[in-house]
Amino acid sequence: MESFDPDALVIPNGHFIDGEIVNGGPGSDYLPVSRPSDHVRYAQMPVANSELVDRAVQSAWRSQRQSGWGKLPPRDRARVLRRFADLVEQDVATLAPLEAVGSTRPVRDATAWDVPYTAECIRFFAELADKYGGEVAATSPSLLGMTLTEPIGVVAGIVPWNFPLVLATWKIAPALAAGNAVVIKPSEMTPFSVLRLAQLAVQAGVPAGIFNVVQGDGRITGDALVRHPRIGKVSFTGSTRSGASIMAACAETGIKPVTLELGGKSPQVVFSDVPDLDAVARRIVMGITGNAGQVCNAGSRLLIQRPLAEAILGRLIPIFNGLRAGATWSASTTLSPIISEAQATRIDGILQRAVSAGAQLHCGGGRADAPIGGAFVAPSILSSVARDSEIVREEVFGPVLTVETFEDEEEALELAQHEDYGLAAGVHTADLGRALRLVRGIEAGNVWVNRYGRSSDFIIPTGGYKRSGLGKDLGRQAFEANLRSKSVLIDLNG
Ligand code: NAD
Repeated sequence: MESFDPDALVIPNGHFIDGEIVNGGPGSDYLPVSRPSDHVRYAQMPVANSELVDRAVQSAWRSQRQSGWGKLPPRDRARVLRRFADLVEQDVATLAPLEAVGSTRPVRDATAWDVPYTAECIRFFAELADKYGGEVAATSPSLLGMTLTEPIGVVAGIVPWNFPLVLATWKIAPALAAGNAVVIKPSEMTPFSVLRLAQLAVQAGVPAGIFNVVQGDGRITGDALVRHPRIGKVSFTGSTRSGASIMAACAETGIKPVTLELGGKSPQVVFSDVPDLDAVARRIVMGITGNAGQVCNAGSRLLIQRPLAEAILGRLIPIFNGLRAGATWSASTTLSPIISEAQATRIDGILQRAVSAGAQLHCGGGRADAPIGGAFVAPSILSSVARDSEIVREEVFGPVLTVETFEDEEEALELAQHEDYGLAAGVHTADLGRALRLVRGIEAGNVWVNRYGRSSDFIIPTGGYKRSGLGKDLGRQAFEANLRSKSVLIDLNG
């Protein structure tokens, strides 16, 4: 799908508990929800208070025990999840515009990537359902020792707004495949597409109560969810600041295991031996302007070996200037809106302070012209930036690229490291030895060579070092993190 009429969509609204959408009920608070593309308020979302969160978690807990989901033969669970994935794929004409209307994801991308990727991610974890079972240990002959794996119970998934369906699925799919129930809290800015996902799960045969959704902000709803005594694990994606509060809440309320996928400030390192400058330029552009830079692993710090700087900048600037701001429902859009006016104002401030401090602006630097009322930031490139300046150190979460140059490999590695973050890095070089030295040297949880970004190979886990996170999404590691391991010893002479 290339375009649609945003006013013609039917938007599901409410929480999802015990297999159905429930509204806020009497006395509920509501939050207005706006379309990022034009700032039109299109819904009032109910906010789950602690009683409603309790209802959702109790439903999940009961259902995980009573519906048999956790005790299903794993291949049967996998069959239900494969059916779920098929329904997601078949539902693209509903899911893609629903995702696009309230988020920053253009419908073309939601159709071609977000929805099929979501389905395929569910399939990947379905396939893992019967691949784990613990092991028999090498004990003394009079004993039989083994480990058993078991579902944790109820997993809370708390997710941000930048890829609402995909990031929720990174939590939902491994948790369900491992036999858990989930309670998902989407971002208060993009609350609705995951409701459709929950409906499809039930249609596929996931028992009512195994997949619940509570709507609300972090302060009331998110906090009540994390602190609920029947939550066995929290899987969070969002900012480092929220992740730290959630980790503290998990420690205070039951030593709950927690997975944190947090912010980043990732470098793209370009050496002058790269064979194809146009290809490198395209990767750099995608890495920082895709979703208008509102991507955790945005390649926001470009590090170029000095002789190449002019040639690379000369290629980037026209592409940056050629991106067309527009609504997520319009076929001509190649630059997404910023999620909110407040976030765009924050980006304006960072840009202005950088220029006042002496940064050289090569393009952008303020708002982009757009044919519609949302907040759009013009893709911006800045050089002459100090290494310890705000724009180089802080996550901007917008289409803003800083450029620094280096002399040699040693300096490149030094510039690539970030004191606090370690989410991702890109290395572009024709020299394999150098690429591998940087792969080993860069302190980041994801390093990509001669490409930038993840692939659809779900087997490769993703996660950050340092303040970029704890634990992994995707891969076997995400599946294992949704299981508990029980150690069993049997005395054969007892
Ligand atoms: P955010 O931290 O403000 O919110 C994320 C989610 O957490 C929302 O659903 C919010 O309501 C909830 N929340 C906030 N505070 C909470 C609390 N104390 N307790 C419980 N829930 C709480 O982040 P955001 O602005 O929605 O998303 C942008 C951030 O997410 C960026 O920093 C980005 O780098 C990060 N991110 C990381 C990854 C990754 O894989 N590492 C992926 C996408 C986004």
